[in-house]
Amino acid sequence: KVLFLQGGGFTQFAMIPMNLMINRSAGYIVTGQWSKKAAGEAKIFGTVHELASSADKNFSYIPELGDLNIPEDLDYVYICQNETVHGTTIKTLPNTKGKTLVSDISSMFLSEPLDVTKYGLLFGGVQKNVGPAGVVIVIVREDLIRDDVLPFTPTMMKYKTHADNKSLFNTPPCYGIYICGLVFKWLLKLGGVNAIHRINQAKAKLLYDYLDGSKLFHGTVEKKDRSLMNVPFVTGSRELDAEFVNAATQAGLKNIKGHRSVGGMRASLYNAMPVEGVAKLVDFMAEFEKAHIS
Ligand code: PMP
Repeated sequence: KVLFLQGGGFTQFAMIPMNLMINRSAGYIVTGQWSKKAAGEAKIFGTVHELASSADKNFSYIPELGDLNIPEDLDYVYICQNETVHGTTIKTLPNTKGKTLVSDISSMFLSEPLDVTKYGLLFGGVQKNVGPAGVVIVIVREDLIRDDVLPFTPTMMKYKTHADNKSLFNTPPCYGIYICGLVFKWLLKLGGVNAIHRINQAKAKLLYDYLDGSKLFHGTVEKKDRSLMNVPFVTGSRELDAEFVNAATQAGLKNIKGHRSVGGMRASLYNAMPVEGVAKLVDFMAEFEKAHIS
């Protein structure tokens, strides 16, 4: 079932355990701030097993997920497939040893093809690639939509309520969903997810190739785990980072400052960003580099 819900991505951090944590036990793979927040919320409802973490290197890589220690009673294994702040993507899904896989795809939604049959539940706040903030889309396997959820679960928080009512149980956020519809039409006209994936790969290559050759800037994520959508980078000097952010802002390259937990800069290359926008950023970075490296 594909459900159009509200409350943004964060509400799913609670709805998932309320609906799926029947044994009150779940496994979380912690690869950045968003999976960490989701794990924190799940602790309200039961035992959270941290199956793997990359906190030791400030979430700059994806740990090995091929042979995790999976407790027998786990209700599901949770990942944030693209960590928005840290700029990592899980490219090889974890071996859950038969347990249901739940994935937060908020910041990679419709940016590349995904095989939905590999997951029990996928969800994304739509505000990156699909529509206005507040709407969240949940794709959930039908056998996981159940009545016997945790006993205190409010009606609005049950997937069954929304699945039984085709996402029209109460007044839906109509305008937001309408905008999502326009974006779907735009995407289909462009050639669909495969077409936008090729464009996104070209955009990311432009920036990563420049970063890899730069003597001033460098990316903060291990190459194999880099995101197509979020590209954090630094100069190595806080003063120079601040100078770059100011100069970029003045040149019309806005919101390039990185999240405070990573520092430096972050370029988000969501579907709406054209290749020309990335080329402009790279040109500006090259000019800045020339002026600062003798
Ligand atoms: N998950 C991820 C990966 C996100 O990037 C965000 C928001 N940036 C959220 C969840 C939370 O979404 P919302 O702000 O819609 O609650």
